[in-house]
Amino acid sequence: MKDLRGLTLSETEEIVRAEGEPRFRGKQLFQWVSRGVTDFGEMRNLPKALRQNLAEKYRIDSLRVLRDLQSRSDGTRKFLFALEDGNAVESVFMKYSYGNTVCVSSQAGCRMGCAFCASGIDGLRRNLTAGEMISQILDIERVTGEKVSRTVVMGTGEPFDNYDELAKFIRVMNDVDGRNMGMRNFTVSTCGLVPEMLRFAGDFPQVNLAVSLHAPTDEQRSRIMPVNRRYPLRELMEAAEKYETVTSRRVTFEYALIRGVNDRDRDVEQLIRLLSGTLCHVNLIPLNEVCETGFVTAGRERAKAIQKTLEQNGIPATVRRQLGADIDGACGQLRLENSQKYIE
Ligand code: SF4
Repeated sequence: MKDLRGLTLSETEEIVRAEGEPRFRGKQLFQWVSRGVTDFGEMRNLPKALRQNLAEKYRIDSLRVLRDLQSRSDGTRKFLFALEDGNAVESVFMKYSYGNTVCVSSQAGCRMGCAFCASGIDGLRRNLTAGEMISQILDIERVTGEKVSRTVVMGTGEPFDNYDELAKFIRVMNDVDGRNMGMRNFTVSTCGLVPEMLRFAGDFPQVNLAVSLHAPTDEQRSRIMPVNRRYPLRELMEAAEKYETVTSRRVTFEYALIRGVNDRDRDVEQLIRLLSGTLCHVNLIPLNEVCETGFVTAGRERAKAIQKTLEQNGIPATVRRQLGADIDGACGQLRLENSQKYIE
């Protein structure tokens, strides 16, 4: 049975048309699905016969919560959701003054192999469907009872390695007849897949783009991010420049600070040299430690000192706020713990 979550309005209208119903019924069905309703019986403005026929042929999936860690200090909640095929994904609910935000996973696992990351340790299991990405938001709303207004695609996976489903996810969530989540309320984070960055600039010029930089030289970056061997810094920086030209928006460079690896004074000097004259913003992140990788965080104080140096050199920088410190853990760790439980 096909899952209705993740279908576009026109795909939903096609389903209703095949049942011999007028097109406006498709919009009504799309609105119910977008609101998170999973029971056809609740769709009161649809004729009973249509509801019965739909229930026989289609399903509306919601994700089962395997774990739900709640921060007592700031309301952050970290979820581990079970997918239908036994895979699991993480999503995080965060409260900001500008609106509730969900960090969505785009793949089960990841094949990019970044050395500091828990999500890639087991490799890629599979891509998520647009419906599974949408479900992370709708099911967090269901469980928390809170409305979500912003989405960051920064969870497990490389979103541009699953481009078509990512694009569908954004378009469905953005549809004015459905959730109507503004394009500017999405942020997508990539480790630097250059061709997709350029494609994305054309397809979604209003969506925010974050690029995981994490090192100022090719030698260092290739050591911790294998993607750099495919798309070295020169190509990445050119792509960022083209992105800015096409979209008139600056790129955010994410920089996770690892003690003794990319946080030394000479690293900061090289970073300044790399970014000087570019329209960008640097988001410094004290690394979330993953015991399997052996990398150690540079800490918040060092992050603040580097922020000051960057700003003195004309490069806008922030230190990422730490939410959910009492349930802290790096991306992918819940999923990893869960799969290790299965192995045991
Ligand atoms: S940091 Fe992102 S791209 Fe790199 S392995 Fe982890 S999930 Fe994949």
